[in-house]
Amino acid sequence: MNYYSLNKKAPNTSFKEAVIKGLAPDKGLYFPEAITPLSKDFFDSIEQLSNSEIAYETIKQFVLPEIPENELKRIVEDTLSFDFPIVELNKNISSLELFHGPTMAFKDVGARFMARCLGYFNQDNTNEVTVLVATSGDTGGAVANGFLGVKGVNVVILYPSGKVSDIQEKQLTTLGQNITALEVDGVFDDCQDMVKRAFLDEELTSNMQLTSANSINVARWLPQMFYFMFAYKQLKSKYKNIAFSVPSGNFGNICAGMMAQKLGLPIIHFIASNNANNVVTEYLKTKKYNPKPSVQTISNAMDVGNPSNFIRIQEIYKSDFELLQENLSSFSFSDEETKAAMLEIHNNYNYVADPHGAVGYLGAKSYLKNNSNCHCMFLETAHPTKFLDVVEDVIETTVELPEQIKSVIDKEKTSIKIDAYDDLKKYLLRA
Ligand SMILES: *Cc1c(COP(=O)(O)O)cnc(C)c1O
Repeated sequence: MNYYSLNKKAPNTSFKEAVIKGLAPDKGLYFPEAITPLSKDFFDSIEQLSNSEIAYETIKQFVLPEIPENELKRIVEDTLSFDFPIVELNKNISSLELFHGPTMAFKDVGARFMARCLGYFNQDNTNEVTVLVATSGDTGGAVANGFLGVKGVNVVILYPSGKVSDIQEKQLTTLGQNITALEVDGVFDDCQDMVKRAFLDEELTSNMQLTSANSINVARWLPQMFYFMFAYKQLKSKYKNIAFSVPSGNFGNICAGMMAQKLGLPIIHFIASNNANNVVTEYLKTKKYNPKPSVQTISNAMDVGNPSNFIRIQEIYKSDFELLQENLSSFSFSDEETKAAMLEIHNNYNYVADPHGAVGYLGAKSYLKNNSNCHCMFLETAHPTKFLDVVEDVIETTVELPEQIKSVIDKEKTSIKIDAYDDLKKYLLRA
């Protein structure tokens, strides 16, 4: 499959180049040249297929032939080494749990898939890459874990010192091998600025192949289609009208769901659930798209003022506002509403949601008010213990730490402290 740049000022390129580059030379996001729906038979018999089989059928048209069939099957199977269970809260709402991976964040799937693709492209040691990521928490851990030990890929993670949770910091700083954590004396925006500057620095880019590992990269974005397929498989015989409420930040996840719908997945509606960072909620109300600086909330992985994947959504709907409105609703919720929802979910259903999932739950409820004939799944994007302080404070109960979290707590942190861009550059140009 070839990809074009949404800025339309760069040549079309292969899957391989799109993954290695991340962003097109004209700074546009890559988008596949064609989207071919899967057969009716695939959806009719989906309950008989394993998750790996479903994932392979879903992604193959976007990857073949640059990764051959057998390799792609192996990559998909390796990526999906955990479950994606659904917990039904009532006949209208359920939680699609995407947090059973190694770092307990839904980003594990995209990170693992992308890492394995890069590993394949570098198997003859000709395509060594350095993955540079800035993280405010979850992305860094998922990327570090997903890329651990992948040959020919060096991962450099920048995180703001003292601004990520203890558990998140351990997930970033205790792996060793090809993973380096740079601890930045500053805030997340400082980390992000340094990364952006590095991508524009010719002295660096002429010396090394730098790439990003956020949802801008097609290899991190597209595997997220799998969740929606797996969810459909589990609930198709029980409910007819299925909608998804997706807690959204950069809109990569929900945009992947829309791609799954393009492939023929019968979804009746999407709900983009936002915290106070409500650019898209406002857009659907006013038809005006006004990016603004992000504001801090308790669902911090969604604190995004200018969602990078929204331009892909516009491409899917050919910038047809009415068509988009028919398919997508969006609601925005305050931290107070989110906390009240966490309490409600705990009291009514004996279920513990993290702040992001709780925003998704609220979006589902808002949509159901006028659409009570459907079943709405909210995506539970992180395990509640990753936001332990807020969760335990709100529901006034202690939550048990799962194995994946326990296993990093006692490990020793290793990081390199930096405070300015020159430190990053020096580090990258060392050796
Ligand atoms: C990244 C993240 C999101 C937002 O996903 P997008 O694809 O950026 O919209 C939501 N919840 C959690 C826990 C995340 O880590």
